[in-house]
Order: sequence, then structure tokens, then C-alpha cells
Amino acid sequence: MSKSLPKRSENYSEWYNELVKRADLAENSAVRGCMVIKPYGFSIWEKMQRALDDMFKETGHTNAYFPLFIPKSYLSKEASHVEGFAKECAVVTHYRLKNDPNGKGVIVDPEAKLEEELIVRPTSETVIWSTYKNWIQSYRDLPLLINQWANVVRWEMRTRLFLRTAEFLWQEGHTAHSTAAEAIAETKQMLEVYTTFAQEWMALPVLRGVKTANERFAGAVDTYCIEALMQDGKALQAGTSHFLGQNFAEAFDVKFQSKEGKLEHVWGTSWGVSTRLMGALIMAHSDDNGLVLPPKLAPIQVVIVPIYKSEEQLQAIADKVKPITTELKKRGISVKFDDNDAFKPGYKFAEYELKGVPVRLAIGARDLENNTVEVARRDTKTKETVVLDGIVDHISDLLDDIQLSIYNKALAFKEENTTSVDSYEEFKRVLDEKGGFVLAHWDGTSETEEQIKEETKATIRCIPLDQKQEDGVCFYSGKPSKGRVVFARAY
Ligand code: AMP
Repeated sequence: MSKSLPKRSENYSEWYNELVKRADLAENSAVRGCMVIKPYGFSIWEKMQRALDDMFKETGHTNAYFPLFIPKSYLSKEASHVEGFAKECAVVTHYRLKNDPNGKGVIVDPEAKLEEELIVRPTSETVIWSTYKNWIQSYRDLPLLINQWANVVRWEMRTRLFLRTAEFLWQEGHTAHSTAAEAIAETKQMLEVYTTFAQEWMALPVLRGVKTANERFAGAVDTYCIEALMQDGKALQAGTSHFLGQNFAEAFDVKFQSKEGKLEHVWGTSWGVSTRLMGALIMAHSDDNGLVLPPKLAPIQVVIVPIYKSEEQLQAIADKVKPITTELKKRGISVKFDDNDAFKPGYKFAEYELKGVPVRLAIGARDLENNTVEVARRDTKTKETVVLDGIVDHISDLLDDIQLSIYNKALAFKEENTTSVDSYEEFKRVLDEKGGFVLAHWDGTSETEEQIKEETKATIRCIPLDQKQEDGVCFYSGKPSKGRVVFARAY
């Protein structure tokens, strides 16, 4: 086993970076801010994709694919959209290279300049709404409920594996509706889908809310979000769902004829989650020994390690284990019998701990005699000896129990790290001493929000959907407020 991981309590950020690499999830690439997602990391992402994709389809959406390149002129059609994304756009200007006349490899061929420069999509509203113009004529064409799985590029300056990369993988839903009410309902429905996914699959409790004008998606009327808390007390925006009003329909002239025969602009939404969720999953649950994965997203849910001295013993263990693995697989539980002779059991134990395999079974000669197996759970690191009769039911229940207890642990952490404050002193003290979500009254102005951010690095994560109506005064300006909003230092 290689050296142990840095400790979370000593250097959280190093711990995260090392864990991502050592658990074989991802690594940096030659281009700054871009990452290689390794097979183990990608199989977790695939599980996320599958679960989300099923939920999108259950709610009536279908997948399609739109191009990577967007004509520059498209981006400028929606004024606030271009303003928001201009600073992080990668632009294609040429389509050919040629040999360097000075003999130094190849250069961009100046004669191969594109007539219109192309933007590598940072998000696809513009290209999709330019297509919707051709697809939507009448109320009969609505609603249009489309999702795409794709990569996007945002030239981020400060990047970190999974959490914020220059190129990332995501899904983006883009829907079109005949009324504002229907589009708003869709926006909220998809926020619910994300909440369910985060809580039930990722075992991640989230806060749901609406972004302030400052933090709103460029081009949206309203941005809804889910916010999660990481173990170092920082918040992470885990997903967003935008009500676009008629902004993109107006920009791309997308109109429909209503039942009454009137021509009206279409109402839109867009919503997305990205490979950032991988970062959230790692940061929320893992410990100093490695990953802790909720069983529903673990590529290997159960590993069986044989402990043997001879070929005969190994064979006897393999025979004993066979019907168990068959039965587990029948129930849709992924299981690996690791009889690799090149590594000792102790090494394997540490490796599976690092990789976050939820349940480890170890079975040796004495277990064969006693008809038992040692069952270890990754999340609590507890071990017990269990009789082999009924082991499949036991494992199946245990996986459910682990899923739930990982969630409950994260929920308790979120509750312990959610604090209400009433003064600026208290606000700063809580941020410095424990971080977390800080609930406080705010006067509703962008000026106050910006000043607080400048002075404390804390941002308003959201105005919570379940906000209590409560008269108070803004802790910063002393002006009146109707309810508390959620502040945090965030990734
Ligand atoms: P947006 O289109 O800005 O609403 O973002 C959609 C989703 O992508 C949100 O869940 C963000 O958390 C996530 N996201 C935004 N920027 C990045 C990035 N640079 N790397 C990874 N995920 C991102």
C-alpha cells in the first residue's frame, strides 16, 4: 500500500486532490483545467447518468444532440447571456494548420480563417433556440421537452478536478412551453428531480432555493438551485434549474400560434447538473482512509476477498462463494470475487477501502469450517461474523442500511452546521470558526450582497424555498427584511 492520504483536518484541499488521484477517479491533463476521467471514476459517473436519465424520461423528456460549435453571432442575440459568458469562451478562428516555413512544426494557416468565428459551447441555449425556431409553429408543437448529454467548455481561471473544470460533462435540459405557468412548473419539477437524485442516490441532503439577481444564470428570469454542504463547511452549488421567461424565444424569434389563433413568444426553461456532482459525492462522504460511496452509486457494491494458504483452500472458498455471487447478481447487486494472487489480503482491504466499496466480505479456512463469513462495512468500518445461511438477504439489507446511514450522517452534519445569526460580528465569527450555512436577514439589495462578499468571501447561496416569513433587519445595513437567506463560503 502506498503512503496514507493527507488528513482532512490538516489539509482538506490536499486530501481531496490526493484522494481523487489515488482512488483512480481522475487526473489532470496537458491542458490546464481539463481532466482525464479514469475508468473507475467514469463508472460512478455512468451510474449517475443512468439514474438521472431514467428520471428525465419518466418526467416526459427525450434526448437529442446539438452541435459543439456555436456561431459567434448567436451568442450575442441575448444581451445578458453573452455578457455573462463572454469572459470564459473558447473561440475557434481557423480551420487549418500548415507547415511552418521556418521549419518549427506547424502553424495556423492565416489563409484558413473562418468567415464567422465559432464559440465552443459554454451552454447550448442559443444553438438550441435557433433550432426550436424551426420546430415550433403551433401550440400543438408544445411542450417540447428535450435533454442532451454533452461536454461544454467554460474557460475557468481557478480549476479543481471535478468541482470546476474548463471542460466538463453534463446534461442540459431545454424545454419550450405555451404558458409561463407551465414553464415555471417545469423549472420546479426539475429542481425536485435533482433534489430526489441528490438525496436518494448520492445520499446528499440539499437546500433548495432561488438565486439572487447577482448569482442568476445569464439570460434567466429566475435560477433555482440545490446547494450542498461539504465536510470543510463550504457550500457547493450542485444543480440549477432556470426559468428563462421569453428571453430566448424573443432573441431567436420563436413564436407559436395559440389555440385562439394569436402569435405569441414561447416560454422556456433550462436545467443542468455536471461532473461537479462527482466532486460533491467525494467531498461530502469520504474519510481519511478513502472514498465512502453510497451503495446505489458504487461500481462494485460487494467485494469478496478469499484468505487462503493453498490452491485447495482457494478452490474450496471459490466453490462456497459461487452460489452467493450468483444470487447477489440476480438481485442486481454488483459483486467482485477478488482471487488475484498478486496481492495479499491486507493490501486488498486497504485498496477497497480507498475505492469506497461499501461491503467487504472476507472468507478463510475457519469460516469454511464454521459456515461463516466476515462482513465489513466501509462507512462505519465495523466488522461482524455472519452465518452464511441467509447471507444474501443480510447483504441486501446492509446495503440499504449503509445508503440510509450515509445520508443521515450528512444530514446531521448539515444541521449541525446551519446557524442563524443576527449581527455582523456573529456572522463573521461563525464563518471563520465553523463555516457552514449561515441564515441571516438581508435587505434584498445587490449592493449589500456585494459588500458582504467583498468583506467576508461569503455569498448568498439562495433564498430558501421553505423560507419562513419573519420580520427582521439586515445584519449589514439595518434595513428591514422579511426573511432569512442562506449565506456561505462556497466552492
Ligand atoms: P449553469 O449552466 O451555470 O447553471 O450550470 C449548470 C451546472 O453545471 C451547475 O450544476 C453547475 O454547478 C455546474 N457547473 C458550472 N460550471 C462548472 C464547471 N466549471 N465545472 C463543473 N461544473 C460546473
